[in-house]
Amino acid sequence: MTTPRFALRGDLLDFTADPGLDALDGAGVRLRRDHWLLVERGRIVGAQAEAPGEDWQQFDHAGRLILPGFIDTHVHSAQVDVIGSWGTQLLDWLETHTFPAEMRFADPVHALQMSHLFLQSLLAHGTTAACVFPTVHAASVEALFEAAHARGMRIIGGKVLMDRHAPPELCDEAEHAEKECHALIERWHGHGRIAYAVTPRFAPTSSDAQLAMAGRLVRHHPGLYMQTHVAENTDEVRWVHELFPAARSYLDVYAAHGLLNERAVLAHGIWLDDTDRAQIRDAGAQIAFCPSSNLFLGSGAFPWHKTRDAGVAVSLASDVGGGTSLAMRRTMLDAYEVQASLQQRVTAFALLHAATRGAARALQLGHEIGSLEAGAMADFCIWDWATTPLATRRQAVARDLHEKLFAWVALADEHDLAETWVAGVRRYQRT
Ligand SMILES: [Zn+2]
Repeated sequence: MTTPRFALRGDLLDFTADPGLDALDGAGVRLRRDHWLLVERGRIVGAQAEAPGEDWQQFDHAGRLILPGFIDTHVHSAQVDVIGSWGTQLLDWLETHTFPAEMRFADPVHALQMSHLFLQSLLAHGTTAACVFPTVHAASVEALFEAAHARGMRIIGGKVLMDRHAPPELCDEAEHAEKECHALIERWHGHGRIAYAVTPRFAPTSSDAQLAMAGRLVRHHPGLYMQTHVAENTDEVRWVHELFPAARSYLDVYAAHGLLNERAVLAHGIWLDDTDRAQIRDAGAQIAFCPSSNLFLGSGAFPWHKTRDAGVAVSLASDVGGGTSLAMRRTMLDAYEVQASLQQRVTAFALLHAATRGAARALQLGHEIGSLEAGAMADFCIWDWATTPLATRRQAVARDLHEKLFAWVALADEHDLAETWVAGVRRYQRT
């Protein structure tokens, strides 16, 4: 399953620069056809056209596509049980479907079983790194990190903070939560490839006291991430204005508590204004665009071009269980369709970049994940261009790289993924 030194042959595709949202010229796209990717002790050490010597174990995937593992910047490990729940919008959906599923994570045995299923499912969809919300229970965080550490995955997550407007089983008061967070940070932040994120669910479920506590955690532990939701749905935005009348905007609630910085990941960000976008840019924070979830819950169309023009980093995220699939290729197609509904276009290059190098850089992890560059961790996936007669035909008539890649995204079939490797270890193999 693992060897200290090996080489894989295939078509290596990654990015050396941001390709832009709608440019088809392929600037920043690096395709190394029929190359060997060299891996030593869990890291990529190079790539070359000629076969390496016999002292390298060789895996021949000629004709297949080798991509960096996808990065899902916003997903809920405790919502596997509610994917595809019918008929509601955000606030109803939380009450009806999500909170009951999250309550079950008080049980450490359930939490661990579900964390294994969740992470193995990410790998089976080509995702090797993620920013994850477990639940309010410390056991749910332990379970997620333990299961991720066992697989060597780059996972960012933390105890969800809620102290109001949720069932009592999912709330805790600020002092107790602060103690639990400190203990989890001590134990897990920087342990292997685990990083801790201060994780207030969203402004409506945290009191001022709890948000202040979250701000203290961020200040006291430099290098922590911060993840939350912002401006997903218009009813939610109205509610935040009622709950925090002194705040200029929804985003301002977080800013006022010291939660915006270059390690902040803000999910959604559909209903922001220009001042908000400038504030996110100035903080160096990023928005996780969750198109599948936005379509499914009828939340609205994220203005990717406008957000990018404001200088804000944007990555892609599944937001399962609001989103309906862990597959980043389906998320990419949804992102394309949301932009099309706004009379805008994004290229396959832009979509793939947002789920690899773009996300990695926004997370300050460009040296470690999101590329096939020497020095990066060996987190990559081996894909077939097509596994059905229809997709094979479509690929055969595609005229250039962009057309091939876009069709590959659009026709995404789960069987296309042959293998997923994490830190130089094969963790998923198609059966
Ligand atoms: Zn979410």
